[in-house]
Amino acid sequence: MKIIHISAECYPIAKVGGLADVVGALPKYQNEIGANSAVIMPFYNTKFTQSHKFTLVYQANLILGNQELNFDILKIEDAVLEFDVFFVHVKDLLYTESVYTDNDTNRFLAFQIAALDWILTLKKKPDYIHCHDHHTGLIPFMAQESYKYESLNKIPVITTIHNAQYQGWMSYDNLYKIPEFNIENVGLLMWDGMINPLAAAIKCAWRVTTVSPSYMEELKYSANGLESLLSHESSKAVGILNGIDSAVWNPETDKFIIKNYKKTTVESGKKANKEWLCSQFNLDKSKPLFAFIGRLVGEKGAELLPHALDYALRSKDIAVIVLGSGAKETEKELFDLILKHKGNYNAFIGYDEKLSHIIYAGADFLLMPSRVEPCGLNQMYSLRYGTVPIVRRIGGLKDTVVDIGDHGFGICHNEVSEQDIVVAINRGKEFYTQQKEFKANRKHIMSIDHSWEVSTKAYINLYNSIN
Ligand code: ADP
Repeated sequence: MKIIHISAECYPIAKVGGLADVVGALPKYQNEIGANSAVIMPFYNTKFTQSHKFTLVYQANLILGNQELNFDILKIEDAVLEFDVFFVHVKDLLYTESVYTDNDTNRFLAFQIAALDWILTLKKKPDYIHCHDHHTGLIPFMAQESYKYESLNKIPVITTIHNAQYQGWMSYDNLYKIPEFNIENVGLLMWDGMINPLAAAIKCAWRVTTVSPSYMEELKYSANGLESLLSHESSKAVGILNGIDSAVWNPETDKFIIKNYKKTTVESGKKANKEWLCSQFNLDKSKPLFAFIGRLVGEKGAELLPHALDYALRSKDIAVIVLGSGAKETEKELFDLILKHKGNYNAFIGYDEKLSHIIYAGADFLLMPSRVEPCGLNQMYSLRYGTVPIVRRIGGLKDTVVDIGDHGFGICHNEVSEQDIVVAINRGKEFYTQQKEFKANRKHIMSIDHSWEVSTKAYINLYNSIN
């Protein structure tokens, strides 16, 4: 079974969020069970691309409206990953330091056209094309409708929605950039007067998946305008919970953390990581340490954190660390709290993969007051590292965390509000004082299995169900 994943992100090459983690893991686990799974992604100017060698696989020109652009397909020379990655290199468009920019309409149009142009030339075509999010949302349409890709239209295309908030909207003026198709079918591209790549993907893909069963249900009444479309297409849609890459996210072998540990050594392991964090960030190590890691955006409920934390920190019996970047105002408010709660609170405004691992390892609790959480990986990482997740009951968080009050192992709240966050922190504080139960819970959550094995099989079953 030959599968090609097409994605804007893939860990460890280029990561902005969970999409990268999924695309960096799923092909690996598919290959482990006998598939032949590879990834096509853009060639960005990242640390990874600067520090590896690449071979030229294919070279051609692509047509983007009235522009003709040269593109290369590159492959990593050394076998550093456990699956093949092919890169689309369009020097003037895709070779940027950040994954996303202000010119994404043209960038991802060129990427998708180049990817299909190249697939068209392959002797052994993929059995399945698996697209991820709106950046690849026009592929299901083009593979089905564009005359030049006619020979691909029997290949099933699957689209996974990692996040339906972002849809890749573009104005109708961009229509001429899409390889020619029967204009009577233009409606497949459109939603609410705009070309909407995510909507086009939902309409044209052979199957649509989302990254958790609860998110699939929620999208039918909250999908940033696509609710009725998702309800209409629900017969071909299914929610498959993401796994975590248990080789990368393993406290026993994690190279980023200060001290490795497993279930039997969790106390001393977490203690060493917590002590390091507390000394680096000037926090009191004797207090329960609450953490937040993530994009500082409305979806994550991040704008509520400054006030909620400010309030919770008044009692001076907790320590808090925040790692994230995003909305400037939230960044500033979170930064300003550092002086106010010196010794009990600190924040690193930015992106730091290593620090994130140490926080999962060293914190006692991880906060996720998300408004929208398609799957959420942070809570699964935190479980694996023996850190109690404090989550809002939504999307994948609802599918993976059970409240201690319901014989579970985490702390859940219903609303995205400052009050709910503070109450949840107080419940965490209380739980922390019951050291015997707290320590037993740590061991328990470390053994909850969220590895990719189950989800990988679900994807393979889904592919098989198409034929
Ligand atoms: P999303 O994709 O919506 O951002 P997920 O929970 O699916 O959320 O995935 C988030 C991923 O990004 C996790 O691996 C998390 O550790 C990582 N991450 C988010 N923000 C940061 C940051 N500032 N520094 C390091 N890692 C981060």
